[in-house]
Amino acid sequence: MRVYNFSAGPAVLPLEVLEKAQRELVCFEDAGMSVMEMSHRSKAYMKIIEEAEAKLRSLMNIPDHYKVLFLQGGASLQFAMVPMNLMVGSKKADFIDSGVWSSKAIKEAKKFGKVNVIASSKSDTYSHIPTYKKSQFDKDADYVYICENNTIYGTKFKTLPETGDVPLVADLSSCIMSEVIDVTKYGVIFAGAQKNLGPAGVTVVIIREDLVGKADEIIPTMLNYQTHVDNDSMFNTPPTYAIYMLKLVFEWVEAQGGVAAIEARNKEKAALLYDFLDQSELFKGTAAIEDRSLMNVPFVTGDEVLDAAFVKSATACGLVNLKGHRSVGGMRASIYNAMPIEGVKALVDFMKAFEIEHK
Ligand code: PMP
Repeated sequence: MRVYNFSAGPAVLPLEVLEKAQRELVCFEDAGMSVMEMSHRSKAYMKIIEEAEAKLRSLMNIPDHYKVLFLQGGASLQFAMVPMNLMVGSKKADFIDSGVWSSKAIKEAKKFGKVNVIASSKSDTYSHIPTYKKSQFDKDADYVYICENNTIYGTKFKTLPETGDVPLVADLSSCIMSEVIDVTKYGVIFAGAQKNLGPAGVTVVIIREDLVGKADEIIPTMLNYQTHVDNDSMFNTPPTYAIYMLKLVFEWVEAQGGVAAIEARNKEKAALLYDFLDQSELFKGTAAIEDRSLMNVPFVTGDEVLDAAFVKSATACGLVNLKGHRSVGGMRASIYNAMPIEGVKALVDFMKAFEIEHK
């Protein structure tokens, strides 16, 4: 029996996608073999990767002057690839520190140039997006960096920093394809697939054409965006099966009515949970209201023993992976695109019953 899986990632995938993958597992269409067994250069596989890219482009409305790459190494490798490839002019970059994931990106960038941390909410356990002024940005910086949705703390940039001519680089690992965005506001977008797009093993990078090809020749070939642009993500063997799964997830998003329809559903799901939290006398959301994420919803009872009891009994009822990240404690419900509204309703009903029992 399948449970409602609130994991922060790898995370729930649409049942229809898993069932389609199951049907095609042993024998993909008329290929006589599974996708895992195909040469990445075969006609059948080329069609899969081309369709994956075309669907991503159409769903996110990605203009032609942006390149789409399917890479490996997770979002974490992008923490290093971004500075390696982009910190090449003034060798300075501005960062907004909104959590552990931006801190890790800062640590990597420091190896390649001068990092200016414009603002940080670390002293408030990253419970809000740090405040900053436009005037703080260095006009001479090679880029400005943000982590748009902070998976651990459940915060999200509701407005993007206005960076003028300086490209904005954003980690969208936990919010990609959850809402309609304007790709032209960014220089680089990257996201590990394992939350909203598919299984772990592939990282999507969307990069403005003019930002490719700036890196020093000395950097490893595999870490140069130019290599992957020149070879359509086929410089070496790409994560073929993970990319096939992305294609299935993109087809599913299309069938749901596209990203705008997904966004409406995500807002409805998040509102169910936040509305309950806001009136609850037992549970409390930990993220600042104005910065609340649609994807990750951390909450606490204020009593660690009760939190643990909640997680335990929720698990027994088929509501799993609700334990909060170790740096925040309490609970966290990740309600990515593939979490059905029924799952959120089941969670809220369970919380209501738990509250009555523990008042
Ligand atoms: N950025 C964000 C916002 C994340 O949530 C995560 C992982 N949970 C990462 C980066 C790291 O991703 P990966 O494991 O793909 O390196």
